[in-house]
Amino acid sequence: MSGQRTPTPEVLVVGGGLVGLTSALVLRHHGVAVTVVEKRSTTSPQPKARRFHMRSMEIFRELGLAGLVHHAARDLAGHDHMAAGRTLAESEQLPLWHAAGAGGAVVDVSPEAPCLIAQDVLEPVLREAAVEAGATVRFDTELVAFEQHDDEVVAELLDRATGDRSSLRARYVIAADGARSPVRQALGIGRSGRGPIGEPNVNVYFHADLGEVVRGREFNLCQIEHPDSPGALASVDGRHRWVFMGGGNATDRDWPTLLRTVLGVPAPDLEVRSVLPWQAEMLVADRYSAGRVHLAGDAAHVMPPFAASGANTGIADAHNLGWKLAAVLRGQAAPALLDSYHAERRPAGWFAADQSSRRTLNLRDQLSSPDPTLAHHFVLGAGGFQYTEGALAVTPESPNDPEPITEFHPIGRVGTRIPHRWLDQARTRSTVDLAGPGWALLTGPRSPHPDPEHTGLAVHRLDVDFLPSDQSLLIRPDHVVAWRGTDPRAATEALVGLLDGLSSTTEFAGT
Ligand SMILES: Cc1cc2nc3c(=O)[nH]c(=O)nc-3n(C[C@H](O)[C@H](O)[C@H](O)COP(=O)(O)OP(=O)(O)OC[C@H]3O[C@@H](n4cnc5c(N)ncnc54)[C@H](O)[C@@H]3O)c2cc1C
Repeated sequence: MSGQRTPTPEVLVVGGGLVGLTSALVLRHHGVAVTVVEKRSTTSPQPKARRFHMRSMEIFRELGLAGLVHHAARDLAGHDHMAAGRTLAESEQLPLWHAAGAGGAVVDVSPEAPCLIAQDVLEPVLREAAVEAGATVRFDTELVAFEQHDDEVVAELLDRATGDRSSLRARYVIAADGARSPVRQALGIGRSGRGPIGEPNVNVYFHADLGEVVRGREFNLCQIEHPDSPGALASVDGRHRWVFMGGGNATDRDWPTLLRTVLGVPAPDLEVRSVLPWQAEMLVADRYSAGRVHLAGDAAHVMPPFAASGANTGIADAHNLGWKLAAVLRGQAAPALLDSYHAERRPAGWFAADQSSRRTLNLRDQLSSPDPTLAHHFVLGAGGFQYTEGALAVTPESPNDPEPITEFHPIGRVGTRIPHRWLDQARTRSTVDLAGPGWALLTGPRSPHPDPEHTGLAVHRLDVDFLPSDQSLLIRPDHVVAWRGTDPRAATEALVGLLDGLSSTTEFAGT
């Protein structure tokens, strides 16, 4: 490695996209010194992802960012409907889909509503927040090589503005360097999955003032059923910015004419900004970690956009990995804890990619005859996926009964995100807020008092329907139930075992 040395971060994040920036925010939340390097000079110029699930918003809530994100998303507030029609001008809003609970009532599933915000609007918010939180964020900086050693990774960086090279040492690396992930390739990590899904597509990003055409039929996605130009129109800001997604791989068509057919109005100010051919794929990295390097986001998994899960799954990767790296770096946990990142997040990535590749863009079909074998909407949207192995204390007293996926009925099973219940009448504080960045022990009203030696564990006595009165739940910093049982002392033993990196299949002392 050559060149000048720069200050030592504890974690180097490669890639300043959505997942890299979220990783930096999570690490700073846990007090970790972090540097992000991004080879581009700006955040994403493309709108790309627009739908951020409740679970991602819960993570932003923990980071103190949910309000900022909702504010930045204000242009698309109220554009939650899907629509369909021969052209935009002839389209109608489809009914909003509300999931009902067992009693038929709309389920209150999360303290945070999902958010429609284009990726090119969200990324600058995350970038500024990461810098404010104390992360070093270097754009125009490319990782060109790296070497792993016993106790550190040495990275070679290229300043693309000046051509200067420098080396940077870090204890760990998060590779959030996108679908092609040069880091994943350098590590020789393969990918498995269905590969290409469906036909090639073209995204045409354009500007046109369509405010008057859209008024009264505001939408997130509008299915265009015109025989000459079928596809879908995505709302980027609800007025001027739009993406048309059509089939085929030809990029040199007469786009203004085709778009005017799609719109069904003259749109005299229409201006095509970019044409991006893409192919939906389902591929998941065979290993999420290699030594001191961990993959996150598209570097670890790519999936079709039809369940809006790509970025959301990457945000959850960052949230899972952040507290584990912090615990190891602080000496509170053994490095073996990091093995649970692959054990938990690879199945989660596979699940999201599999579910996404079994959905299509046909909005009418999805609403009128949803596939009953697919996961419930909220299982994808509210973090309903269950980890079956990893940093979990599974014991006879604390089994991880399987969580159903075709219905959404969370009851605090081991390996799932804690169910949301409001803790105050004003609906400001949720059970989801009780953990993060620390651990929490929730005890039912008749559960024995935990010992004072529960240092570092916030203890909350709760009277909520999912917690039997004599039971306790141990909640990880990422809101996941790690243990449940009747003896809170066993929770301490479980916690110690987890931090020692014992797997869920290990017999814990005292069980
Ligand atoms: C049309 C479309 C619609 C989508 N809709 C949704 C949606 O509604 N919801 C959703 O959840 N997801 C959606 N997605 C997916 C989402 O956009 C991706 O999952 C998300 O961008 C992944 O973020 P990332 O940070 O992992 O990777 P990227 O956004 O690809 O960022 C990786 C970054 O790493 C940088 N980089 C690469 N190599 C290096 C290097 N050597 N050194 C430094 N930097 C490097 C790149 O420049 C890039 O900025 C959509 C995608 C598309 C294309």
